[in-house]
Amino acid sequence: MDVGKVKGIGPKSLLLLNKIGIYTLDDLVTHYPFRYDILKRSNLREVSSDEKVIVDGKVESIPILMRFKAGLNKLNFRLVTEHGVVGVSIFNRAFMKSNLTIGANIIVIGKFDSKKNIITASDIKFGALNNQEKIESVYHCTSGLTNKNLSTYINTALLMNGKEISDYIPSIYQEKYQFSNKKTALNIVHNPPTIEKLKEAQIRLKYEELFSFMFKINYLKEVHKREKSGIERVIRKTELENIFKVLPFELTSDQQKAIYEIYEDLTSKSRMNRLLQGDVGSGKTIVSIIAMYLNCLSGYQSALMAPTEILATQHYYNILELLKNFPLSLSIELLKGSQTKKEKQDIYQRLASGEIDIVIGTHTLIQEDVHYKNLGLVVTDEQHRFGVNQRALLNAKGLMPDILYMSATPIPRTYALTIYGDMDVSIIKEMPKGRIPIQTYLKKEEEIRDVLELMNQELKEKHQIYVIAPLIEESENSDLTTVLALRDKMNLAFGSRYRIDIVHGKMASAAKDLIMQEFKQNKIQILISTTVIEVGVDVPNASMMVIFDAHRFGLSTLHQLRGRVGRGSIQSKCVLVSNSDTKRLEIMKNTTDGFEISEEDFKLRGHGDLFGTKQSGDMCFKIANLKQDFKILMQAKKDSLDYLIDTTTDKESLKISLINAIHHSTD
Ligand code: ADP
Ligand code: MG
Repeated sequence: MDVGKVKGIGPKSLLLLNKIGIYTLDDLVTHYPFRYDILKRSNLREVSSDEKVIVDGKVESIPILMRFKAGLNKLNFRLVTEHGVVGVSIFNRAFMKSNLTIGANIIVIGKFDSKKNIITASDIKFGALNNQEKIESVYHCTSGLTNKNLSTYINTALLMNGKEISDYIPSIYQEKYQFSNKKTALNIVHNPPTIEKLKEAQIRLKYEELFSFMFKINYLKEVHKREKSGIERVIRKTELENIFKVLPFELTSDQQKAIYEIYEDLTSKSRMNRLLQGDVGSGKTIVSIIAMYLNCLSGYQSALMAPTEILATQHYYNILELLKNFPLSLSIELLKGSQTKKEKQDIYQRLASGEIDIVIGTHTLIQEDVHYKNLGLVVTDEQHRFGVNQRALLNAKGLMPDILYMSATPIPRTYALTIYGDMDVSIIKEMPKGRIPIQTYLKKEEEIRDVLELMNQELKEKHQIYVIAPLIEESENSDLTTVLALRDKMNLAFGSRYRIDIVHGKMASAAKDLIMQEFKQNKIQILISTTVIEVGVDVPNASMMVIFDAHRFGLSTLHQLRGRVGRGSIQSKCVLVSNSDTKRLEIMKNTTDGFEISEEDFKLRGHGDLFGTKQSGDMCFKIANLKQDFKILMQAKKDSLDYLIDTTTDKESLKISLINAIHHSTD
């Protein structure tokens, strides 16, 4: 059902909802709070002056409205609380006056001046604090669409359209686990009465999400197993060995093993669907180049898709360089959004005629107007598991190439085998020889001078530096370091001698590309950014990274970030600045092994903090969190497989709709 059909959502709100990715009824009711605030009643007798307080009570006097110049206004009234009568004033809420009737139950949040016995309120809500507390849902909003709007729409939808909400848990499992129905669970998650109830409802919704995800994986695995549509190439082993001889370095044994596995796939009847997993810098690219070369040897075309144009361009030049020495010379082309129509047409035409052997670009490579003469292999770089039903997209175009995915997200093996269950997995664990391990330092905020001194030394050596902050700009409820504040600080310290610039997610992609290009060319020495520093960007002269408020990032993210340095032959440094959570950060100091870090991260976060439903970014589940919900994942994996192969449920409409959803999804 279209979200526009929910009562109270007009055309304007509809546009705003679309803007944050809500199109259907299901999207709306699963727009989960990203955080909960617990409002606990304060004891006014105990709080010190100017402390933030939350109290509930009844309005005792008719609010008096005062108007000031420039349209400002203020309401004053008295409130009877558990701890006596207090004055309340609130600015610019004249519109509330008519609702603040005598006897109305309200919750007041604000600052208490104990001398004057007045609360200056920042917010007033209607209702009372049950059991001394109230749990409030906080949603991701957008300008024009408030938390309150969202909450109202969601609750209206739950009330009036509850029957139309999809539920993907088969009745056997509903009963087995004694789950509440979907509508009840949603109601609780959006309006939690208690933490215990909330937890219970979350588990039910997480299970459902993981069940349908694992059903999809299991189903695709079954389908792929039966499929015998692969290209059976004839490639002699000696041709492979000839390539090894011309490489500028010796392959690690993990790289060799991966290449032989791919070789088997390319020469077999089954269609390749392989994941190549290896830490940043482990040398996945060369493996994919060899795969593409072998594919081209037997007369097929290859396409390499990178997540951004910066990375595509980087691959293009690396590949040109490496292929120079290869026995057979191939025609390679780079397809970019910034090329003129004529340039693009020319590439399209040469792809259709088969003149181009390898084409490199972004996901546009498999979009509509691109036609290949005989596409035999698609390599996807740095693509995360989610958002990868590219096979469906390719199949829909009538293409049946082999597929190789590359991922630098190190995850424990049991995990990999679960969430990538529909693929074969090759893992590169061993790093190329001769790498100098990055030195990691932990610093407290008050040690900023040391940090600046370390930076100064690095700059003197003509090296470049990445500086990372968790936020772009100041926000009301947070005192985290921001990119903009750091720019000012860095300018003060180094601005007269070095060029400093910023890059972040809110910038247009052309502007981002330009900055990255300038950093690569060493026109910028200090680059300050959020975590948008692209995965895979390679600037060997950048030998230092400073991460502020490091405790705010997951260990895996820190590891990915740190992987941006230590790429050349220079000793690289990483400085983690934080005043808290040092135990976790110690792990970063003690190891550079991504798999070890992810195991530790997993262990530490395994217990799960209930209020951290915010996603890690790479795995975009709406409520489940693969790290915290591992047990639920494993159960969902087993149940969904049982359900899939259970022939007695063959014609069940739920099963059919699950399968239809897979066929129609191109994400
Ligand atoms: P990633 O796995 O992160 O994509 P890359 O493929 O970009 O890593 O490799 C990182 C660097 O290591 C590249 O400069 C590459 O040429 C180099 N490299 C790859 N394999 C080896 C090897 N066996 N020995 C030495 N250097 C290697
Ligand atoms: Mg790479």
